[in-house]
Amino acid sequence: MKVLMVYPEFPDTFWSFKHALPFEGKRSAFPPLGLLTVSAMLPSHWERRLVDLNVRRLKDSDLAWADVVFLSGMIVQGPSMQEQIARAKRHGLRTVVGGPIVSAKDPAIAEADHAVEGEAEEIIPQLAADLERGQAQRYYVKKQWPDVTQVPLPDLHIAPLRRYSSMSLQYSRGCPFTCEFCDIIEIYGRRPRTKTPDQVCAELDQLYRLGWRGSVFMVDDNFIGNKKNVRLLLPRLVEWMREHKSPFTLYTEASLNLAEDEDLLRLMREANFKRVFMGIETPVVESLKETTKFQNLRMDLLESVRLVQSYGIEVMAGFIVGFDNDPADVFDRQIQFIREAAIPLSMVGLLTALPNTQLWRRLKAEGRLLKESLGNNTLLDLNFIPKMDTQQLIEGYRRILSTIYNPEEYFERALASLSQLGAAAKTPVVFSDLMAVARSLWRQGFLADYRMEYWKFIGQTLRRHRQHLPQAFTLAIMGHHFFELVGAAESS
Ligand code: SF4
Repeated sequence: MKVLMVYPEFPDTFWSFKHALPFEGKRSAFPPLGLLTVSAMLPSHWERRLVDLNVRRLKDSDLAWADVVFLSGMIVQGPSMQEQIARAKRHGLRTVVGGPIVSAKDPAIAEADHAVEGEAEEIIPQLAADLERGQAQRYYVKKQWPDVTQVPLPDLHIAPLRRYSSMSLQYSRGCPFTCEFCDIIEIYGRRPRTKTPDQVCAELDQLYRLGWRGSVFMVDDNFIGNKKNVRLLLPRLVEWMREHKSPFTLYTEASLNLAEDEDLLRLMREANFKRVFMGIETPVVESLKETTKFQNLRMDLLESVRLVQSYGIEVMAGFIVGFDNDPADVFDRQIQFIREAAIPLSMVGLLTALPNTQLWRRLKAEGRLLKESLGNNTLLDLNFIPKMDTQQLIEGYRRILSTIYNPEEYFERALASLSQLGAAAKTPVVFSDLMAVARSLWRQGFLADYRMEYWKFIGQTLRRHRQHLPQAFTLAIMGHHFFELVGAAESS
């Protein structure tokens, strides 16, 4: 059996980093880890190829080679997914879809021949046997969450690694918290399941053997969801990094209660974690209570961010507007908080009711749901009736984005974040980093209309924070992505 794995295209969102990637000469931020893991579980005599549409286009010759097409993706990839399913079917191919888009029952997958809902590990052997016999079912669903200690190493051999800015590695699935808008806990559960330290080290070994150097994103829903296990993992990570002379820079996502645990922060710094994404959501206490994000109420938000930064770990954060309890001045309060906390990469989104979340159920019961979510919280398109006047909400949201991603404001915040950063672990410098710096100097320093602000930022970094110069270039390049994205949204 010849399996063509197709990863649909992402639209231009905060997380696509589409405008930053050309600086590094990369095509996409991360490889499709889900499909690569499925590939590792298919019968060994099956042939497989990967086409990631974020890296290259799908050719007719790819489809002519295949017997079956496997697709996986998130809701936000729906339009591209639908297009690829239709194209594969025109070539007379069977299609199998998986990923969070299936759990969301997204209409984009309606035309697929077979769908796999939930985590695929325990379903794949049955699906593969059924496909070989020509008797595959329309729908496969696994209600229990699989034991992630049995997940094999992802099949990285079919991915063009050098086309990606970062590699992905998953340590855990699920999160113990209850945020009302979150679909993670509905899909992956509230009992975080973790891989063993041996599994994680084996994945790092594989990346190392394949010649990867540079950033590795631990794509966990909440890296510290199971603190007991993460305490066992981190010393092993520190040891691995020492033995291999720190070839990787690590990034992850974690809940804000990381700031309650300085031992973990110290170990994360030693293991070469350089950036962590945290869901801060809002400085408005009533809105945090409304969305049952109680873990963000345990410590002062600003203090928590400062503490993480003091360990040399940059904080990147998510913010939301549109909660029922948001007061009229929420927009100014968000801007003020982002400024004071010095969080350069602030992903501010409009609240969206993702399918089958607690929020979705509540709004449905209240008769406030308007339509299904497109999974992209930067679209100026609400899928529910907010308490605040819709126009006021959208205008306020636009104002936050245009303020925080005004180049002058952004570079000031980036500089302030460097001054908050404590001593960090040494960063490995790879060729693409050097190319990125050269392109940044040229494109941002000479061609961009914000070149004055750029040079001021680089000059002040050189004078005051020379040790963080690599980070400063990364922030400048990331800033370019946000300037372009927000500029495009403003003119639309
Ligand atoms: S902390 Fe993050 S992953 Fe956990 S429930 Fe809240 S939003 Fe979801």
